[in-house]
Amino acid sequence: MRAMRLENRVRTAFFFTSLFFSAGVGIAQKPSPNDLVVITNVSVVDVRSGALLADQTVILERNRIASVGPSKSAKYPRNAPSVNGHGYFLIPGLWDMHVHLVFGEWFPGAQEITLPLLIANGVTGVRDMGSELQTVQDWRNEIEAGRLLGPRIFTSGPMLDGPKPRFPSSIAITTPEDGRRAVDQLKLRGADFIKLQSLIPREAVFAIADEAKKQEIAFAGHVPDSVRASEMSEAGMKSFEHLIGVFEGSSPNEDEFLKGGKTAGRFLATYDPARAASLAALLAKNQTWQCPTLVWERGGNLIDVTDFEKDGRAKYVPASWKNKTWKRFTDEILQGYGADDISVRKKFIEKELEVVQLLHKAGVPFLAGTDTPPGVYVFPGFSLHEELQRFVAAGFTPLEALQTATLNAARFESMEEQLGTIEKGKLADLVLLRANPLEDISNTQKIAAVIVNGHYYSGKDLEKMLAGVEGSARRAN
Ligand SMILES: [Zn+2]
Repeated sequence: MRAMRLENRVRTAFFFTSLFFSAGVGIAQKPSPNDLVVITNVSVVDVRSGALLADQTVILERNRIASVGPSKSAKYPRNAPSVNGHGYFLIPGLWDMHVHLVFGEWFPGAQEITLPLLIANGVTGVRDMGSELQTVQDWRNEIEAGRLLGPRIFTSGPMLDGPKPRFPSSIAITTPEDGRRAVDQLKLRGADFIKLQSLIPREAVFAIADEAKKQEIAFAGHVPDSVRASEMSEAGMKSFEHLIGVFEGSSPNEDEFLKGGKTAGRFLATYDPARAASLAALLAKNQTWQCPTLVWERGGNLIDVTDFEKDGRAKYVPASWKNKTWKRFTDEILQGYGADDISVRKKFIEKELEVVQLLHKAGVPFLAGTDTPPGVYVFPGFSLHEELQRFVAAGFTPLEALQTATLNAARFESMEEQLGTIEKGKLADLVLLRANPLEDISNTQKIAAVIVNGHYYSGKDLEKMLAGVEGSARRAN
């Protein structure tokens, strides 16, 4: 990779001026990160205001956005490599705020599969919600050094779970002391935040919250089974995943649910709009972020009526993901349906969208996340685009949906000065689209080029990247 880029740099001056202009964004050559990259005459999507700024020239210098402004007054060296962005739309790089990069041994080959799939789909940042910490930190160092292609990563390292964790990459927590020790150690090892799972005993949950506050490290994840959503919000939990706790808290049976027996049917039967509204007000007051993983919520609830054989993206993942890990999850999910038949589960999927809109209207902030790859047939990169479409199905405008994967992610990670919008001085993580995402959110899938930390990947580069993933997936079989 590195050698190729250096070679490109040498040839830049004549290559780009001659070829880039004639063939637009289709050119496979990519500029070195040390060079300027100029995107001319492009429509810039301001994801803060929803404004579409026509005919802009965006100048990238190394890994930063050096300037954004009207093309007619843009100044840059004549021989700088440039891309004619006429007819294209530029958005900030996308974030998937719920992934698992390394899930024990359950998704082998993730480095060759997940990382390039994310980039090829314009996902230039991820929040890793449970992984092998050392491995992910090593990847992050390689990515930062330019030796490995991948997104920016925030990671929790291993997840805290109950005495018998359900998943790999977990730490068993039985007592409050276990919880405090785990927080201390993860903080020491450089985890960015603490991820909670469902089975942590109640006393330990509050010890973890308290210790995390003392250590000034955020905690996020599942509202544990034994604790109310309102309690976790008040304890300062930064984000809830999968809407866990929200239906429980919208039911007069909440205290019963703390002991178990949660099903979609019971949630629907006991849903109380007044309780839902007061929980929404509390989550808004505390600005408790919601990462509802809507694609996976739908997928999990429809798993028995979905024909995965037909999914054209299946070629990008190794057979063991499909035949072992996803098969295992599928079997568990089918067991878990209990008495909820397909009509109940379909109603529940719709109810989740309604609740998401209710929370959104109440002022609760949202993040786009997919739970890839533990979500069955939830694909790295590809599924993030579907998640944006689910937000629109819930009643978000395309702009609001786009914000969940750009501006909101940057705000959540306290990176708004660096990322989240296309503005001078920010890091150059960008996606060039062939159609306007503000008109139709599914246009985020029409990717013409991806810029990661200043590196330009053309459509041809991305095709090659995908072909490479396909090969890796086949070899891993
Ligand atoms: Zn997850």
